[in-house]
Amino acid sequence: MNSLVWSHKPLLVQFRQWTNQQRRGRRGRRTRNDNHQKRKTTLTLLITDPEEDIEDLFSEKEVKQIRVSLLEWYDENQRELPWRQRSGSESDGGDEEKRAYGVWVSEIMLQQTRVQTVIEYYNRWMKKWPTIHHLSQASLEEVNEMWAGLGYYRRARFLLEGAKMIVDGGGGFPNIVSALLKVPGIGNYTAGAIASIAFNEAVPVVDGNVIRVLARLKAISANPKDSLTIKKFWKLAAQLVDPCQPGDFNQSLMELGATVCTPLNPSCASCPVSGQCRALSMSKHDSSVLVTDYPIKVEKTKQRHDISAACVVEILGGQDGSEINLPDSRFLLVKRPDEGLLAGLWEFPSVMLDEEVDLTRRRKEVDCFLKKSFSLDSKKNCSIVSREDVGEFVHIFSHIRLKVYVELLVLRLKGGMNDWLEKQNKGTMAWKCVDNEALSNMGLTSGVRKVYTMVEKFKQKGSTTNSIPSRKRTSSKKLRCS
Ligand code: SF4
Repeated sequence: MNSLVWSHKPLLVQFRQWTNQQRRGRRGRRTRNDNHQKRKTTLTLLITDPEEDIEDLFSEKEVKQIRVSLLEWYDENQRELPWRQRSGSESDGGDEEKRAYGVWVSEIMLQQTRVQTVIEYYNRWMKKWPTIHHLSQASLEEVNEMWAGLGYYRRARFLLEGAKMIVDGGGGFPNIVSALLKVPGIGNYTAGAIASIAFNEAVPVVDGNVIRVLARLKAISANPKDSLTIKKFWKLAAQLVDPCQPGDFNQSLMELGATVCTPLNPSCASCPVSGQCRALSMSKHDSSVLVTDYPIKVEKTKQRHDISAACVVEILGGQDGSEINLPDSRFLLVKRPDEGLLAGLWEFPSVMLDEEVDLTRRRKEVDCFLKKSFSLDSKKNCSIVSREDVGEFVHIFSHIRLKVYVELLVLRLKGGMNDWLEKQNKGTMAWKCVDNEALSNMGLTSGVRKVYTMVEKFKQKGSTTNSIPSRKRTSSKKLRCS
């Protein structure tokens, strides 16, 4: 079991001796906070090669102890989560596919999203599409609607594509890691989770929680984002996974990271594997070492700063008798391109801005877009009823900080809505007009929902002060586009 050794002990020992000297020298001269900061810097600067830091695998004795302790603890302490519930047929081993489907959906939802948020989404999803066969019949539109608010919409698209691929293939749910990896959107982690939990394949999983637990158990101070280090975490996890209960063991390791060995306040006193934890042992012998020093914090890549102007275009019902049955007004929605950020999702018309510009310039950009894309031109086919600057907000994506300026543009079409709709060349961009009720019930991304909520609040404020606030009423009577 222990034939694979990554020991670079002389270097490691030298490093530890050096850091201990540094710590001893510092002791008494600095406050605890100073020490903590300095220690983190030292670890970050000195450890560059994970080969130097991860000295070996677990011993056989450690492996046995960790397996037993974690499985016992998991039996007693696991949280009740909907994707862990088994139907009668599943617990008899009769419906592994159904379990695999549930694990797959939950694991994809849980990526980048908190458990409490996922529970409601998961329950709604399983009610609508209880099996992979149901999901394979869904449209991308339906799936996006169901996913609205969870973010990272590519995940939803991959779930749908994966379901179609598996069902169309006719060979049943893939039940080993190598086959699962061929399904769109399933990577090493998800494949390991499905194979071990649903099909009992003795394979490991490594996610953020597992990395934190392993980094502390082995006091690993190599950069946890480094690909070599990640490979070694996989090796450690593979060594630990219990061959008889791989699914429960993997879940126990993740559960420990999520509930006990947390990033900032680990509960070491109640940890079932504290006896095997090197970081804890080091911290007991050297007060300048904290278990939270592991894994080391890696600087995040800087976010891109983007700016956009979103325009909620509300088109009032027609003024001729032929449209008497139309709803009072409709809102213009545009579908984003099929690739890239928020691919294929609906949003209010918006334009990206190269830099901060004033309101006049923003409106000019918006007007050009509306004229070019929808032939909305106040000189020809519409009149502006009102145009209001509603406000702004910042929406954070993982790698983008998007500042959004929001305005409400209320239009009346000169020839009526139907006439305008008929004349539209649909072109390559998909768009639609929906009434207020449809818009309220649509699955919108959280950013678009925020725009809509801002506009709704703005209108309510206007109505309580006897219509739209006059100080914000615009003098503009034209959609300007030079
Ligand atoms: S003893 Fe503390 S640091 Fe070590 S694994 Fe347990 S909770 Fe984490």
